[in-house]
Amino acid sequence: MLGQMMTAPLLISSQIAHAARYHSATEIISVSTDGSVEITDWATVGRNARQLAAALTALRLDPQTRCATIAWNNRRHLEIYFGASGGGLVCHTINPRLFPDQLVYIINHAEDEVLFLDTSFVPLVASIRDRLKTVRHLVLLEPDIGDHAGTLPGLIAYDDLLSGGSADDPWPVFDEQTASSLCYTSGTTGNPKGVLFSHRSTVLHSLACNLADSLNLSAMDTVLPVVPMFHVNAWGSPYAAAMVGARMVLPGPGLDGASLVALIDRYGVSVALGVPTIWLGLLGAAEAAGSTLSSLKRTIVGGSACPPSMMTAFRDRYGVETIHAWGMTEMSPIGSVNQPTASHRDLAPDALAQLRENQGRPPWGVELKIVDAAGAPLPHDGRTEGRLLVRGHFVLDAYFRMSQENTLQEGWFDTGDIATLDADGYLNIRDRAKDIIKSGGEWISSVELENIAIAHPALSDAAVIGAPHPKWDERPVLVAVRAPDHDPSEQEILDIYDGKIAKWQIPDRVTFVDTLPRNATGKVLKRDLRDTFADILQ
Ligand code: ADP
Repeated sequence: MLGQMMTAPLLISSQIAHAARYHSATEIISVSTDGSVEITDWATVGRNARQLAAALTALRLDPQTRCATIAWNNRRHLEIYFGASGGGLVCHTINPRLFPDQLVYIINHAEDEVLFLDTSFVPLVASIRDRLKTVRHLVLLEPDIGDHAGTLPGLIAYDDLLSGGSADDPWPVFDEQTASSLCYTSGTTGNPKGVLFSHRSTVLHSLACNLADSLNLSAMDTVLPVVPMFHVNAWGSPYAAAMVGARMVLPGPGLDGASLVALIDRYGVSVALGVPTIWLGLLGAAEAAGSTLSSLKRTIVGGSACPPSMMTAFRDRYGVETIHAWGMTEMSPIGSVNQPTASHRDLAPDALAQLRENQGRPPWGVELKIVDAAGAPLPHDGRTEGRLLVRGHFVLDAYFRMSQENTLQEGWFDTGDIATLDADGYLNIRDRAKDIIKSGGEWISSVELENIAIAHPALSDAAVIGAPHPKWDERPVLVAVRAPDHDPSEQEILDIYDGKIAKWQIPDRVTFVDTLPRNATGKVLKRDLRDTFADILQ
């Protein structure tokens, strides 16, 4: 017997339709590429998204045609999220910080036919235009194309494209399993791999994000996604925000600390999402500006491990709660979120602060397990380390247009992370499997050593790598950046580990650099550091 309830496919268009109808006047604040601020609302974004869907249809594109974006977080980009997907096309967000060869590879692999771009990226796109085999429509995210016609022949303006569509028709209805958006992983090893999300996975992911014990977005919030919209769909925050009708602040190109502090204070941002490096800049800028970040209640931090010292700074200096989350492109991306449960209600503040440091628990829709090298399950005792495997409603099944062999292990996806899990499902990411330091048969977490280093005021940045060692295979080496006006010696830095970790885990060397190499999503390129310092212990 089937249930006798109405069913409609779970489509992304239902999110924007809801926001436009029931949160019509809620503001969308958007910083344009030229730095000016534009304030619209969900009704306008909803209408424009519908119009865009119609205008794209009028271009006679096939269903699921890939529409690429190379753009900042701004209002038109938000409209493309809903307009392209809602119209049955695939929104393919691209990270402009990739190398030109990687951009060409991704665009040709995805067979993008439409390419939306912000003014900042006109020179970049012009430099690769003749290698883009499938792109037929170039759309500048501006009211007009200004003087760019000569640089990019055929370029049209977004606002002109919109005027070719109408917002009058209802959103089209199709199968919820239809592809909705596409993101490529940053490809630190080999070519980037495409993750093709569906309407269903995106809607279910949005629901999981909005749960109270998850990111807990609501119509009371003003949400600032600092995480770029080209990085796993800004962690799904635009979809989740539309679903609850949250007010949004889209920061455009200015992601430096001072610009972010100004936006937070001016528009009363209550929740902001971003990677730890961004927050380092923000904390410094807030102090310099004398801001108390009075509106900010929560920061959602993920993408790489959030140093506990950063959580302390947010909490003690600004009364801001840090919600530490873990995930990956292959998971849409949310895999776990750190929130307490009722059993922690009576914990002393220090113990509670410590509990909040790990990567948290899976929301509904995700299952986690750890396994040994042979794939056998390991205990969830909070101590045993193993490879982290996941499955769930918004976890990848297969990479886009790639051989599917070995993508899953008996229905589970191997994250490539090494972790512990405790009985309540709290996850502690010890390291990426390729970064963990293997010293004389024991494992040392580079993340743990980095957290201790970064907490020291004489250092502004730190990464720990395993360097080849004649006796122990590998030993930890700390690559550190001195803070301005500080000049610590190697020994002074080594001394900070005393009493904090077992002696055999203390790095063998500290070496100072001016900056750490980072990839297109802001993660430290440990492979490059390993190459640079391959001989340091020989
Ligand atoms: P890429 O592989 O391109 O860096 P992702 O952005 O999907 O792409 O990165 C996912 C990886 O980032 C995870 O597998 C994990 O190693 C790391 N990561 C994400 N969030 C955290 C976190 N909160 N703590 C530690 N590591 C994290």
